[in-house]
Amino acid sequence: MLTLGIDIGSTTSKVVVLDAVGEVVESKIIPTGASPASTGEALIAEFSGKHSIAKVYSTGYGRSLIACADKSLTEITCHAVGVNYLHPTAIGVIDIGGQDSKAIHLAPDGSVLDFAMNDKCAAGTGSFLDNIARKFDISYPAMLEYYEHSDKRVNINSTCVVFAESEIIGLLANGESMENIFKGVLRAIAMRINRLYSQVKLSASTEIYFTGGVAQNAAIQKALCEELKADITVDPYAQLMGALGAAVLARRDL
Ligand code: ADP
Repeated sequence: MLTLGIDIGSTTSKVVVLDAVGEVVESKIIPTGASPASTGEALIAEFSGKHSIAKVYSTGYGRSLIACADKSLTEITCHAVGVNYLHPTAIGVIDIGGQDSKAIHLAPDGSVLDFAMNDKCAAGTGSFLDNIARKFDISYPAMLEYYEHSDKRVNINSTCVVFAESEIIGLLANGESMENIFKGVLRAIAMRINRLYSQVKLSASTEIYFTGGVAQNAAIQKALCEELKADITVDPYAQLMGALGAAVLARRDL
């Protein structure tokens, strides 16, 4: 009796398959591409060909495009359930994906007490970081190096990706160091996430579980730790957390 959770995100599509005892049998992450519906259907066909899947639950921004799913659920519900499944004492979650960021306050049973979401602007999301990294040809490990070697506080005031690029170009032209500029960029993102987090009424001392693809970015992990003055835990399933939560909920409904 296997269950499959599928998370059709703006940037990547994720699958987690759980077995009858709730262990992860298989998982996969691929780019969503231009056709979320066909990406999702192809993933489900691939896993259904290999396993006998009893139930499929979908999540992510493209969840309703998965016609063959038995149910679709929000990412907030699924990230909450996924984190609670792996870390039953967790109460604070920050999820940063390709196009949005969320802060979630969990109840002890993994249900959502409160959440705040930014899906209106790219600032504080993976696509903002991806654009800046691409434009200035910086790898994510290099971002961490810059962060750690900055010796001066530089404020980046623009949060729109286009204006932030112009601001960075201006600072570089004025001789400001890459270290100071990119620490400023990362601190600006962490400040936005901190504002989101404060909306869900969690104390800064709470241990925070960081999910979504951006959780793998060590520079943002560090900036968030410093800005929120909190311990940040990144589970190996961070990017798969929504798909895991969907698979867990499907299993509960068997
Ligand atoms: P969505 O669910 O919205 O599609 P994801 O949660 O899959 O988004 O996150 C995608 C983002 O994660 C990318 O835009 C990228 O910035 C970031 N990301 C993915 N893998 C890594 C990595 N190994 N290191 C740093 N950032 C990463």
